[in-house]
Amino acid sequence: MSIAESIIGIARDYAAKENARKVTEIELSIGTLAGIEFDSLDFALDICKKGTILEKAIIRINKIKARAKCINCNAEFEVEHVFDACPKCKGYASSLLCGKEMRVESLLVD
Ligand SMILES: [Zn+2]
Repeated sequence: MSIAESIIGIARDYAAKENARKVTEIELSIGTLAGIEFDSLDFALDICKKGTILEKAIIRINKIKARAKCINCNAEFEVEHVFDACPKCKGYASSLLCGKEMRVESLLVD
């Protein structure tokens, strides 16, 4: 299942719980390491939302920059790729603090 389809699925479940007929606005937060191509997501959503409760919805996407903490020197830094080295000590041992999430921040229904 594509990311766009799973986003629509999340919205559909939520709307069903609220007994809503349609979603007017949805706000998502997606980490930069969630494995999502942001450039193609808008396009995919545009195609996939046709005929669904999201058809008329405004879709807002917040990009969450991935951050990691170095296990060696405890520095926190922004990560572009999963195996980026620590900018302070150049070590490769770090734990990811955020950046892999995908969640619905808010959803307005009608
Ligand atoms: Zn370090």
